[in-house]
Amino acid sequence: MIYQNSLSFAIAQDNDDLLKDFRNQFLIPKHKGKDVIYLCGNSLGLQPKSAAQYIADQMNTWQNLAVEGWFQGDDPWLEYHKSLSASISKIVGARENEVSVMNSLTVNLHLLMVSFYKPNSKRFKIIMEGGAFPSDQYAMESQVKFHGFDPKDAIIEVFPREGELTLRTEDIVQTINNHAAELALVLFSGINYYTGQFFDLEAITQAAHKAGAYAGFDLAHAAGNVPLKLHEWGADFACWCSYKYMNSGPGGISGIFVHEKHFTDNQMNRFAGWWGYRADKRFLMAPGFDPAIGADGWQVSTSPILLLALFKASMAIFDAAGGIDALRKKSVALTAFFEFLINEINKGQAEDIFRIITPANPDIRGCQLSVVCGQNAKAIFKYLADNGVIGDWREPDVIRLSAVPLYNTFQDVYHAAKHLADALVAVK
Ligand SMILES: *Cc1c(COP(=O)(O)O)cnc(C)c1O
Repeated sequence: MIYQNSLSFAIAQDNDDLLKDFRNQFLIPKHKGKDVIYLCGNSLGLQPKSAAQYIADQMNTWQNLAVEGWFQGDDPWLEYHKSLSASISKIVGARENEVSVMNSLTVNLHLLMVSFYKPNSKRFKIIMEGGAFPSDQYAMESQVKFHGFDPKDAIIEVFPREGELTLRTEDIVQTINNHAAELALVLFSGINYYTGQFFDLEAITQAAHKAGAYAGFDLAHAAGNVPLKLHEWGADFACWCSYKYMNSGPGGISGIFVHEKHFTDNQMNRFAGWWGYRADKRFLMAPGFDPAIGADGWQVSTSPILLLALFKASMAIFDAAGGIDALRKKSVALTAFFEFLINEINKGQAEDIFRIITPANPDIRGCQLSVVCGQNAKAIFKYLADNGVIGDWREPDVIRLSAVPLYNTFQDVYHAAKHLADALVAVK
């Protein structure tokens, strides 16, 4: 695709966009009476207009049926989570019974580590990306300590090579091989929150398994953003939040994946609760934990129906849009256009003012572009906000901007780049 730096080009792209009507299904905040240019779906996705009705429906069920809502009505609460499995499993590339929804992300990371991080004196190490999201770092450290090991010995971080910004798959694989004999777990994000790099999860999984370790993934920035094939890749487990690219509201429910090869492993540790019990026998309230077969067997507590309802509103939109593959197609074009426009700004400068640290190869990134501002970074970020462009800020000098295919337009991206260019003049 040859891109052009013009509003008319952006308008033409929007007119040709098969997904253009989906923007109308979202509530877009206003700035000075106009829609903001919302490029922050990597942090909190926008609210579907339908979400309030999905909540209202459950409030009505509660009002009219009260406790009978668990068993009666259009969507009995007892099985409510199951009505999400088909949509979610397509987004992450799983079998339906390999996914479940429960808790929030870091909690699920801990619960899955209970099953998949069982260190012994020989195998106790965890390999993860350097500069992982802080919550993941804290989770790993505390897990390691909980098992009586020292994070300094047990956690191996892989960093980019000198002078490089992102990780090479070969270096990740090499690090796994180097520690193979002592390795218990490889835990990577799907997409790094800071750089926007999309890791080769299949290669990482294969290397981990060859080393005799488990492979698990935090897909907070990948789920709903890029196509995934967790089952086919053989990943052991994964978890993600639904409030970023999956638009299910602040603190929305998290999802988990457990590969079916682990369903019958009864040696596996779990922190159990009654919601993970076999559904057919749960209400016998018998002693002795007998887990549901499938990812549902990792559930602990009663389903938070209102959170599930928000997620369900969002999944209906994903399905109507034709799923993650249709979204990805637009996403690749949108992000490439944005990248082109940012590089156009740099062309007029002595050196690159806006340096994109996200990989240029579309296969190894999603929606997000992480832009290092060479000068006046904070002031430029503020200028964007003052002009209705919503991105987010990461210390010391990075602005993350994500054009999300469900609700962003080529015109959004055009105007955002224009504001970036104007900021250079305005904040001297
Ligand atoms: C957003 C994000 C989280 C947030 O976890 P919560 O438990 O939902 O607060 C964790 N890990 C990664 C990689 C993230 O991007």
